[in-house]
Amino acid sequence: MAAGQAIAAIAASAAHRPGMGLVHRVYVPRMLGLGLGGLAVGATLQQRDALYLLWPLLVGHALLWPHLAHWRARRAPQPRRAEHVNLLADAFGGGFWLAAMAFNLLPSVLVATMLGMNHLAVGGLRLFRRGLMALALGTVTGGALLGWELQPLATQATVAACLPFLVSYPLVIGIVTYRLSLRLAEQKAQLRELVQFDPLTGLLNKMHWHAQMESEFARWRRSARPVALMLLDLDHFKRINDEHGHPAGDEVLRHFSRLLRHHVREADVAGRVGGEEFAVLVHDCSAEQAQFLARRVRAALAAQPVPVAGGLHVTVSVGIAEPGRWQRDAAQWLAEADAALYTAKREGRDQVCLAPRRPR
Ligand code: GH3
Ligand code: MG
Ligand code: MG
Repeated sequence: MAAGQAIAAIAASAAHRPGMGLVHRVYVPRMLGLGLGGLAVGATLQQRDALYLLWPLLVGHALLWPHLAHWRARRAPQPRRAEHVNLLADAFGGGFWLAAMAFNLLPSVLVATMLGMNHLAVGGLRLFRRGLMALALGTVTGGALLGWELQPLATQATVAACLPFLVSYPLVIGIVTYRLSLRLAEQKAQLRELVQFDPLTGLLNKMHWHAQMESEFARWRRSARPVALMLLDLDHFKRINDEHGHPAGDEVLRHFSRLLRHHVREADVAGRVGGEEFAVLVHDCSAEQAQFLARRVRAALAAQPVPVAGGLHVTVSVGIAEPGRWQRDAAQWLAEADAALYTAKREGRDQVCLAPRRPR
C-alpha cells in the first residue's frame, strides 16, 4: 500500500468517534450471550416454580437489552464510556439472575465466568474488578427482592440448556478477538509505511533514508563493496511553484520520482531527502559508473516534459560521492556528495559532478 493510501486509511479510522469499534464489536456477542445465557437461566427458573413473574423480565433482558445497549452507546457522546457502563449493567443483571437461580452451580458459574471474560477482554483488571462489584450488587438486589435460597444442583434439562452457551460463546469471542488482531496487524503495517515513506512520492523519507545511509556506510567499512551516493536537486524549482502553483510543483516531484524509480535498480535505495532533493544509494557501483546512471536520469528528464501546464521542461543537478577511508562517518560522505551538488549548481546547473577522490 502506498504511503498516501496508508494516511487515508488511518485518517478514515480516526474519523470514527473513539470507542465506536468496541460498540460494534460487542453487539453480536452480547445478543448471543444474553440469548443463550437467558436459555440457561430460563431452564433453571423452571426448577423454582414460584418465580413465574420473572419470565417477562428474563425475556426482555435477553432479547431487548442488547439492542437498547447498542443504541444507547452509539448515541452517547463518549461511546467507549457508555459501553463500559453497559458492561457493568450486564454484570448487575447477571448477579440478579444468580440470586434468582438460587445459585444453581452450573449456570451461575457459567454466567459469572463469561461476564468476567468480557470485562477482562474489554477493560482489563480495572473493568474486571468493577464488574465483580456490579455482579455482587446485582446479587444482593436479587436476594433482597426474591429471598435468599440455595439450590446448587442442576437437573438434566438445566445442564442441556447450558450447553449451547458454554460451547458457542467462547467460539464467538475467539472469532472477534482474531478479527481484532488482524485489524491491529493491518494498522501496524500502515503505521510502519507512514514512518518510512514520503506520502507524495512513495520514496523513503529523509529519516529512513538517512538510517539506510548510515548502515550502508558501516557495511562498506566491513566489506569494501563499492557503493555510490547520489544527491539530485531539481533546478529552479521555486520558480515552478511561483509560476505554475504548488499542485504543479507537486506533480513535477511525482513525475521525477517515477522517473528516478524507473532508472535505479530494485536493490538501490532511493529517498526524498528535502523539498525537491532526492538521494540514491547505488549498490555495487563506483562513482564513475553512478555518473552514467545520473546522466541517463538527467537526459530522460530533459527528454520528457512534465505533463502539467502544457508541458514543463525541468532540469536536475546531481552530486556523487564514494565512501572513503578518510571519512570519519556517513555524515562526511553525505557532505562530500552535497559539495559536489553545490559545484554542479554553481557551474550552471543541469549537470552531474563527482566529488574529488580525496577532498582537499
Ligand atoms: P536551485 O536550482 O538552487 O535548487 O533552486 P530551487 O528554487 O530549486 O531551490 P530552493 O531551495 O530555493 O527552493 C526549493 C523550493 O521547493 C522551495 C519550496 O517552496 C519548494 N518545496 C519544498 N517542498 C515542496 C513540496 O512538497 N511541494 C512543492 N510543490 N514545493 C515544495
Ligand atoms: Mg532546487
Ligand atoms: Mg534544494
